[in-house]
Amino acid sequence: MARYTGSVCRLCRREGQKLFLKGDRCYTDKCAVTRRAYAPGQHGQGRKKPSEYGIQLREKQKARRFYGVLESQFKKYFEMANKQKGITGENLLRILESRLDNVVYRMGLATSRAEARQFVSHGHFTVNGKKVDIPSYLVEENDVVAVKEKSRNSQKIKDVVEAMEGKIIPKWLDLNRDTLEGKVVSLATREDVDLPVEEHLIVELYSK
Ligand code: SF4
Repeated sequence: MARYTGSVCRLCRREGQKLFLKGDRCYTDKCAVTRRAYAPGQHGQGRKKPSEYGIQLREKQKARRFYGVLESQFKKYFEMANKQKGITGENLLRILESRLDNVVYRMGLATSRAEARQFVSHGHFTVNGKKVDIPSYLVEENDVVAVKEKSRNSQKIKDVVEAMEGKIIPKWLDLNRDTLEGKVVSLATREDVDLPVEEHLIVELYSK
């Protein structure tokens, strides 16, 4: 599938905030948002007040970029969320949080969602004992997500696990750091999602 291959820091600058797409670097003063806190491009420093549509669009783009999801996939998630019972915006966030790459990142088994996506597509993870190499795979309650036995000795994985020691794992997930096996205790609720996303603006955008 086609992926965005440009500078990810540019995406953060476009949204005017850190999207934490580059792992460790995002926490240093090398972060492009810290160094150049204005939108990229020729008109980056002189933008007009955005319209209502512009605000909704930015919110959707921001959410999409946080999770590293393409437009078509994001729209599909919205349609799924819209068909489910409950509040559409909250359903949408729950679906996004349930992606396997996000779960791996949230468990502290990758330093960013992009790295988690790479680990998953390289076949380093299992779900309920079976190899799953599809980053968009949606986990369910009680699923067991684990680093594949062979991959546990990978230096890269060991380094990441060490670097992420101390990361707070959200309460809807559980990780055994010795076995590198985690459980989806429950699906994420709105309170569990700590990202600065106003999901109602996304719903308004798609409901036009
Ligand atoms: Fe975004 Fe991280 Fe780049 Fe900063 S370093 S601009 S948070 S991707």
